Amino acid sequence: MSSYFQRLIFLIDPLFSLSPAIKAEFDIWDLSTRVLHIRAIALLTSSLYLFYALVDQMMLEGEALAFATTLHLLALPLLLLFIALLTYFNTLHKLMIITLIVAPIVANLGNFYLHSYFYNSQDLLLNIAYMPEIYLSIIWIFSISGLRFLPALLSVSIILAGFFIWQNYFPIKEEFFVLQLLWMLAAFSFGFVNALMLERRNKNLFLNAKQLEHLAIYDKLSGLCNRMKIESFCEAELDRALRYKEVFSIGLIDIDDFKKINDQFGHNAGDRVIQEISKIFQTSVRKTDHVGRWGGEEFLILLPQTEANNALELIEKIRKIVAQSDFGLPKNVTISAGVAEYRDDKTIETIVYCADKALYKAKREGKNRVYLSSECCVIPIKPIK
Ligand code: GH3
Ligand code: MG
Ligand code: MG
Repeated sequence: MSSYFQRLIFLIDPLFSLSPAIKAEFDIWDLSTRVLHIRAIALLTSSLYLFYALVDQMMLEGEALAFATTLHLLALPLLLLFIALLTYFNTLHKLMIITLIVAPIVANLGNFYLHSYFYNSQDLLLNIAYMPEIYLSIIWIFSISGLRFLPALLSVSIILAGFFIWQNYFPIKEEFFVLQLLWMLAAFSFGFVNALMLERRNKNLFLNAKQLEHLAIYDKLSGLCNRMKIESFCEAELDRALRYKEVFSIGLIDIDDFKKINDQFGHNAGDRVIQEISKIFQTSVRKTDHVGRWGGEEFLILLPQTEANNALELIEKIRKIVAQSDFGLPKNVTISAGVAEYRDDKTIETIVYCADKALYKAKREGKNRVYLSSECCVIPIKPIK
């Protein structure tokens, strides 16, 4: 594909090159923002059709009136009320969209059929009076209905095809036909561009929201989740462990003598060490485990359904990998860690406090080692002054 063509597609569809999973996520997000809109428009349009049916009483008579009444007082209001009802059921949203595509087709094919009554009676004025519904419909489908661009285009295309077929059987004067074409072209082009641009704006809004969400969750330097997110993972794990009487462990890890690394080799070298170590952490744990940057050069690894001894084994394995890794510095980089297991501790604060105590012991006793918090830790209560 030429780069010019690719750029054009990107301009129209910012999600073009993204994964199907992201596109599916957008579809869900986008529909959730449209549901209330669709409900409001369906209810409003339904009530306007009742008004339309009243006007029919003033305009028409005989068979034409009977048909128009069936269409405008019964079929379309009911179809639109059905759409409004479907908005309340998440599982029926596909049916809601299909009905939303079909409803204006029914309205316009019905309108064309109504014109055949005027055609036979050669009532030109009525023919012209009922004509604008098609332009309004095109704008309604593209810009008001709440349909996405492609379903809207499908609905409009079927209506336009119907219009040309109808013209074939019931031709109007050529100059009138050309004038109708002009109005239709205007309605179509306004609606088409508006729907396309609206969808593009929604996709960009979605991407921006995703980017913000990413910034709020992940730490930029390490790519790990940030403290807020790892804390929320811990809280969720605590709730699960409490409910299902399960156990989990955490490892609190600190890079040894990191200040010296910064001082001797520069801040950039320090940043690189944080990035490399983060990669080691992430590739050493299971998918169900979580690694977060706790702060500065401290990290927390959350190990769900893992007992202390297994956690100790894993963190020790990570310690060895780090100690044996080449960080491109003239000296080795090492880490110290404290491991604590959740059993009856009441809060995340308590378990982190235990791990921190074990980490402190590891530092005190020479660094480059991992200790398990053995005693039942209780945060000392600050004496009241
Ligand atoms: P210890 O072995 O006792 O942990 O000593 P330490 O030097 O690692 O610990 P200390 O708390 O004295 O210093 C931590 C240093 O980490 C200080 C801070 O400037 C540095 N640091 C924190 N965040 C970053 C970062 O994002 N990038 C870099 N390059 N340095 C950081
Ligand atoms: Mg530290
Ligand atoms: Mg340190």
